[in-house]
Amino acid sequence: MLPFSPPRIDQKIIDEVIDTLQSGWITTGPKTKRFERNLEAYADCRRVLCLNSATAGLETMLRWFGVTLGDEVILPAYTYSATANVIIHCGAIPVFVDVNEHDFNINVEKIREAITDKTKVIMPVDFGGMPCDYDAINEMVRSNAIINKFIAATLEQQQLGRILVLSDAAHSIGSRYNGKRAGSFTDVSILSFHAVKNLTTAEGGAICLNLQEFDNDMIYNQLSIATLHGQNKDALAKTQPGNWRYDIVEAGYKYNMTDILASIGLVELARYEDETLPKRKLICERYNFAFAPCSWAILPCFVSDEKESSYHLFPLRIKGVSEMQRDQIITTISRNGVNVNVHFLPVPAMSYYRKLGYNIENYPQAKANYEIEISLPVYFNLAETEVEFVIKTVKDAVYEVLG
Ligand SMILES: *Cc1c(COP(=O)(O)O)cnc(C)c1O
Repeated sequence: MLPFSPPRIDQKIIDEVIDTLQSGWITTGPKTKRFERNLEAYADCRRVLCLNSATAGLETMLRWFGVTLGDEVILPAYTYSATANVIIHCGAIPVFVDVNEHDFNINVEKIREAITDKTKVIMPVDFGGMPCDYDAINEMVRSNAIINKFIAATLEQQQLGRILVLSDAAHSIGSRYNGKRAGSFTDVSILSFHAVKNLTTAEGGAICLNLQEFDNDMIYNQLSIATLHGQNKDALAKTQPGNWRYDIVEAGYKYNMTDILASIGLVELARYEDETLPKRKLICERYNFAFAPCSWAILPCFVSDEKESSYHLFPLRIKGVSEMQRDQIITTISRNGVNVNVHFLPVPAMSYYRKLGYNIENYPQAKANYEIEISLPVYFNLAETEVEFVIKTVKDAVYEVLG
């Protein structure tokens, strides 16, 4: 079976992990700090804090901004449920909006319609690594009409004086917008290093701070404490001779990244721009070229004037099929030896969210995109012959099911 998205684990990764294991320091320490500095340089942002997941990063930033009971947070209906779950954790209300047809990303006009005097945060998601329309989103939250609706309830909200743009950049490390890389497009961006993502640490994530209105070094220190028990010294600092005493300044969380995981990230990041991204791009371009002549294929978009994707997914759509036919095509593809996926089952269609009263019928574009979508394998070790095999297997399955 051809896998969907296996990690690239080679001798370099193994050596770096072993180096950490033998170093005498395995939790958060020098390698995590080095990984953070390298990420700051790569993601064009002011500070990076690494954590054990993107989900932890999203929730940490919502809590930092004081998002709480009764507040509203706007997000696309078309995303992984983590984006919505963290809003629930804070006691706030997820306000889903529909997406664009062409790039699956949050629709800016729909955001504008959804903003109320309770809106505290907008969480755009770069679907498949294609950046959202950030010029429009950033301009909107700074426009007088929208600023006038904003009611600040905390010091941070007062200091910002407007809605926070917190991008879920779980897919988009290395993507570009106006010549800059993901991590710098909005106030704060959250990267994911989960096992199936473009750049992995097995599990992991990062907060990219880019808050023009704040001292980002200070926020970095604040967040480091908030994500490590609320302890005013980290484990490494405590190993300094005589430096054992510490204080708990808040009831913090336990979200820190370990040096074992950071060592995977260091190797992955060092070869990301020159090896990982070009290979992913090559595979996606080959798929696009192969499916372009097919009248039933709707191809994904990876570039536009000012944007370029990180090629995280290849979301192929099959024109005019029902959801059942799409599922049959997937079954046929799997039976013939290729593991494919669907991104995403829209969040409002999940049983927990249905019980809360959400209804997928209110997000017709998300529903329409979902029903005809199949994500094809994209990963570094996918060989040329395997790409050709995927193409043939997908085409055969479509012809078999559609006749
Ligand atoms: C993977 C993913 C997340 C969660 O990332 P973790 O690092 O697993 O917490 C969040 N949002 C989107 C869109 C994702 O695909």
